Amino acid sequence: MNVNQSAPPVPPFGQPQPIYPGYHQSSYGGQPGSTAPPIPYGAYNGPVPGYQQTPPQGMSRAPPSSGAPPASTAQAPCGQATYGQFGQGDVQNGPSSTVQMQRLPGSQPFGSSLAPVVSQPAVLQPYGPPPTSAQVTTQLAGMQISGAVAPAPPTSGLGYGPPTSLASASGSFPNSGLYGSYPQGQAPPIGQAQGYLGVQTPQRSAPSQASSFTPPASGGPRMPSVTGPLLPGQGFGGPPVSQPNHVSSPSPQALSPGTQMTGPPGPPPPMHSPQQPGYQLQQNGSFGPARGPQPNYGSPYPGAPTFGSQPGPPQPLPPKRLDPDAIPSPIQVIEDDRNNRGTEPFVTGVRGQVPPLVTTNFLVKDQGNASPRYIRCTSYNIPCTSDMAKQAQVPLAAVIKPLARLPPEEASPYVVDHGESGPLRCNRCKAYMCPFMQFIEGGRRFQCCFCSCINDVPPQYFQHLDHTGKRVDAYDRPELSLGSYEFLATVDYCKNNKFPSPPAFIFMIDVSYNAIRTGLVRLLCEELKSLLDFLPREGGAEESAIRVGFVTYNKVLHFYNVKSSLAQPQMMVVSDVADMFVPLLDGFLVNVNESRAVITSLLDQIPDMFADTRETETVFAPVIQAGMEALKAAECAGKLFLFHTSLPMAEAPGKLKNRDDRKLINTDKEKTLFQPQTGAYQTLAKECVAQGCCVDLFLFPNQYVDVATLSVVPQLTGGSVYKYACFQVENDQERFLSDLRRDVQKVVGFDAVMRVRTSTGIRAVDFFGAFYMSNTTDVELAGLDGDKTVTVEFKHDDRLNEESGALLQCALLYTSCAGQRRLRIHNLALNCCTQLADLYRNCETDTLINYMAKLAYRGVLNSPLKAVRDTLITQCAQILACYRKNCASPSSAGQLILPECMKLLPVYLNCVLKSDVLQPGAEVTTDDRAYVRQLVTSMDVAETNVFFYPRLLPLTKSPIESTTEPPAVRASEERLSNGDVYLLENGLNLFLWVGASVQQGVVQSLFSVSSFSQITSGLSVLPVLDNPLSKKVRDLIDSLRAQRSRYMKLIVVKQEDKLEMLFKNFLVEDKSLSGGASYVDFLCHMHKEIRQLLS
Ligand SMILES: [Zn+2]
Repeated sequence: MNVNQSAPPVPPFGQPQPIYPGYHQSSYGGQPGSTAPPIPYGAYNGPVPGYQQTPPQGMSRAPPSSGAPPASTAQAPCGQATYGQFGQGDVQNGPSSTVQMQRLPGSQPFGSSLAPVVSQPAVLQPYGPPPTSAQVTTQLAGMQISGAVAPAPPTSGLGYGPPTSLASASGSFPNSGLYGSYPQGQAPPIGQAQGYLGVQTPQRSAPSQASSFTPPASGGPRMPSVTGPLLPGQGFGGPPVSQPNHVSSPSPQALSPGTQMTGPPGPPPPMHSPQQPGYQLQQNGSFGPARGPQPNYGSPYPGAPTFGSQPGPPQPLPPKRLDPDAIPSPIQVIEDDRNNRGTEPFVTGVRGQVPPLVTTNFLVKDQGNASPRYIRCTSYNIPCTSDMAKQAQVPLAAVIKPLARLPPEEASPYVVDHGESGPLRCNRCKAYMCPFMQFIEGGRRFQCCFCSCINDVPPQYFQHLDHTGKRVDAYDRPELSLGSYEFLATVDYCKNNKFPSPPAFIFMIDVSYNAIRTGLVRLLCEELKSLLDFLPREGGAEESAIRVGFVTYNKVLHFYNVKSSLAQPQMMVVSDVADMFVPLLDGFLVNVNESRAVITSLLDQIPDMFADTRETETVFAPVIQAGMEALKAAECAGKLFLFHTSLPMAEAPGKLKNRDDRKLINTDKEKTLFQPQTGAYQTLAKECVAQGCCVDLFLFPNQYVDVATLSVVPQLTGGSVYKYACFQVENDQERFLSDLRRDVQKVVGFDAVMRVRTSTGIRAVDFFGAFYMSNTTDVELAGLDGDKTVTVEFKHDDRLNEESGALLQCALLYTSCAGQRRLRIHNLALNCCTQLADLYRNCETDTLINYMAKLAYRGVLNSPLKAVRDTLITQCAQILACYRKNCASPSSAGQLILPECMKLLPVYLNCVLKSDVLQPGAEVTTDDRAYVRQLVTSMDVAETNVFFYPRLLPLTKSPIESTTEPPAVRASEERLSNGDVYLLENGLNLFLWVGASVQQGVVQSLFSVSSFSQITSGLSVLPVLDNPLSKKVRDLIDSLRAQRSRYMKLIVVKQEDKLEMLFKNFLVEDKSLSGGASYVDFLCHMHKEIRQLLS
């Protein structure tokens, strides 16, 4: 077995694969010699598309040590409504005993990771990473100010102060009524003419510009290659993306570093007004200024030629404003990435590659680095020194979702069983064996890639090396060739040196008056009867190993004995809530199938038993305490499902008082609204974590319940909180049941500990998410499911090296649903740079926003909100100013220049700043804010992306027969045509907005009424009608819901109806009623901040 025949180290992938004796590749025939760029697919995870049906080659046929079958189950589809399929999805993840193992290409870079990876990832990627060097310059300019209209301070304070002025100048806008022809936000024609930005291609620089500026120093090498107009060649229909058009900006005075910033906001400059809510109340059809295909478009912005030359003076059209089409569009960026990167699989073999955006559908091939579904970073090329990092202010963070669910086409991590010896680790830093470890001395030792320690290779793990220094069995072992895999843990990794028992679920149901009255208890009990058949199971297990138990409570607790031998369930009441104990052990936690009859009987009886209750008081902490004690007595980990309705005011530990006080908003005491009112819950949570007791909380409040306090335990135990305000069975059952089904079926890792190790030079310093930490390194999670994310921030503690790069290894030790103790390992290698431009060229704005939002949302616990907002703005300005100063080509101060990868940073950051947590509207409750705050804490990047910048989809623009999702439009009122219908979603909310002039046929097709006025505002269900439009819209709604982790209840909103105000909160590019700035205003403001920093 010598690997010498392996191809020379050429491109990382695609070289002919050595064919090892015994590994016939016939079934992958064409692959070996195939051309370079097309990537051969890795052995473990991924058959080539054409082979997708083939189960991934299992380790079972691999050498002994690497045997166990993939733990497939971890990926069981948490089906939405389709829970009949639960457990099936595993199959394809399993090993196939028949399929031959295929080897990975012989010489991959990551195997010898310590060797320099020379090539810029950019070059290797099909489309290259977003061209950072490209600067997006925005026309902040010529328009506005010019004299008359705009007073100097305009942009500054805007939007930060109270919503001073709505509307004002709106009248001065030409109403177009042209909406019908409006290009759906994709803004094709215009954008192009404008040529301003967009993303496209590695190359940029449109012809016109080429001369107008010198390429950024650092980006130098790449610029030359592009001289001509590339767009045509690119083949995407989109507008030319980012061109470095340096547009001179508003007359410097306008944005001059005035001091006004903090001062009282001046009157809104007329040019912004069209974006402010308020103007819309004009007659229909008057929305927004004319834009889009408007005829006059070409003249004021004739494109590049005029750039740089517009002095500022007299503008052709009187009231100018910054044209929204001339500033970076999230829709365009998303669209471009889909076109550029959605067609090829993302192969993880190359260090430091920036993955496609979270909004792009793509497959991942694991060739040595963890999939972006598991780890996403704010930057894939990090500064070598802390000085550089401080200068740039770009946070270095990774958003990690260790148990992320994968699409069916991707295999879940293989489970490696090293037997009694357990996983091989570095003796010094305890890092786990991974593809980056360097074997030396003929394979007898290995040098740790994290701490450089030289370790002996145990005899049973010894293997010879090939001429490149790689172990000849590297591709037979997931831990030597893949970014993600699992190890079976030995007893040393178990609590008390004992293998764990299977976990248990305990359902704890509030049966006080409110819960009974709304029908909740009856609904829940009925649902549980069938839902218990769908508890998570593992592999091909016939039934779940999870045991279940039941408790009901109001201000006392009722435990139920549901032992299979009983004819009827037995209730035991514990009224001493101050000293909670579990009155029964035997018969409390049972196997569903064995005790089915007793359980069904119990669930039938509960609603009737409490039907006449008058008890309105509830306890809360004792309920959690009881569940945790029950798990402790059973010596297992598990999850509590709490269904709770009211503020727990009964005399008991954890008793709460109503302390809601909206007067605190905008005061220094506002932070107290987010803090728990007692420390009792933290103490309780700590005990839960020690027991591996995860708590999921379903709240059904009619009034304030103090979510900030009640969510402490779920938050610290890795649990989830769901909230159904003013729950009514008729209106809310679909949403509740859908969430419940998904939650109960979710695969969960219990009693988990996560540790992130890094190579010398950086270390993890801060963590965000739903977990508990008792020291500075170990993230403890009583439970962790496939939706939960932990965001980790890194800081330098030494100098990094460009050659060796930086490595992350996330190790999660957990107990599976079947009670198996395992370690899931994710590895990721990043590049390191000595040039700031390389940092800015490899950033991921969506991930940055995820981190910044979490940082800010934690900040509100301790600081006044204004300080939190200001910190965000300052950091953003510093990031962009550093780019401007060090990476951008020289240009006038009046130009706003954004790095290509970060051109959406301002718009997204503005969305975070004006979110309900940081700048609440009048109608947002304290509980809602606390609820959202904790939700965001464990969101992944895709969730924060759509949460902060909602998706707005026009429904009648695209052909009725089109089956693809309609292209989104920008979240701004002026993008709404009153003749159309739109869906808006942000992962939690879903609106159907109906324009007042929508065709009668559309109204009839969707609502089965004859006119707009007859549509019921606030409707939450569309009638099921037999016509193509109705079907299409309902299908789209279903599909949007299926993409999200929580069920989104639909709300139908009619134009100019009261509910529209609610809807408008989600049009995040507009000025908000709570005073949040419009995108345009914020961009101007950001520009000013940057200029101040540079001056
Ligand atoms: Zn080490």
